[in-house]
Amino acid sequence: MTDGPLAGRYALVTGATRGIGRATALALAEAGAHIIAIGRTSGALEELDDEIRQAGSNATLVPLDLKDGDGIDRLGGALYERFGHLDVFVGNAGVLGPMTPLAQIDPKEWEATLTVNLTANWRFIRSLDPLLRLSTAGRAVLVSSGAAHKARAYWGPYAVTKAAVEILARTWAAETENLSNLKVNLFNPGPTRTRMRAKAYPGEDPETLPAPEDVAQAILALCLPSFEETGKLYDFPMRKFREFRLPE
Ligand code: NDP
Repeated sequence: MTDGPLAGRYALVTGATRGIGRATALALAEAGAHIIAIGRTSGALEELDDEIRQAGSNATLVPLDLKDGDGIDRLGGALYERFGHLDVFVGNAGVLGPMTPLAQIDPKEWEATLTVNLTANWRFIRSLDPLLRLSTAGRAVLVSSGAAHKARAYWGPYAVTKAAVEILARTWAAETENLSNLKVNLFNPGPTRTRMRAKAYPGEDPETLPAPEDVAQAILALCLPSFEETGKLYDFPMRKFREFRLPE
């Protein structure tokens, strides 16, 4: 076990199999946290496990489809039994969804996008809030997108979910703002070199974009016990630490 700033702490990351979530899980592990890694792709979770061990930490692998709301509920109970509390929750998993005019979206695709990007995050709040309250320094970061603030043609389902995630997180922050030990914030990675970005912009040269590892360092900063803000949205690049409260 490392002696980093998250040594002895438990951190749950959704979408830990690739992209920003995987890099965040590794960054948190390098800071000393035990990682609870969530995703559907078991092989990728096992590869992550190997890398976390090499970084001197440990992981609990949870193959889970975020459409399984009951599974998210059960996870909270299982984590309480095993660890007694949770210190960090990074709600990162997401899908791009159909990039189709609103009038032509298949209802099943609409539903699936809302379930993974929005409802699953609410189910995690429901399942994990009691565990985070038991931490000495509970930190939650929900991953949003610049799409939450733009109305662009064909981005409807994705943008709707990200706008809703922002009000979800801010509501949770308002409900917990009297707790000195629980901080809830939002993070917008901006364009990042991942599979999702390549799907949205197939003609773009990925090498022109920041790597998930760079973005992960910014998410790590929001997860540290020393990070005291709550109810805010942070835009990458964090070296500028441009932060703002959304209009009340
Ligand atoms: P990727 O597509 O690379 O990774 C998405 C992750 O989400 C994977 O680990 C995937 O795991 C997981 N996931 C997707 N669907 C499910 C599901 N049904 N159940 C469980 N896990 C699921 O995306 P990024 O890393 O790019 O995106 C991470 C976050 O950052 C997202 O919320 C995205 O909206 C946001 N973002 C990304 C930007 C970018 O430029 N990349 C810009 C702005 C925001 P698996 O398939 O194994 O289940």
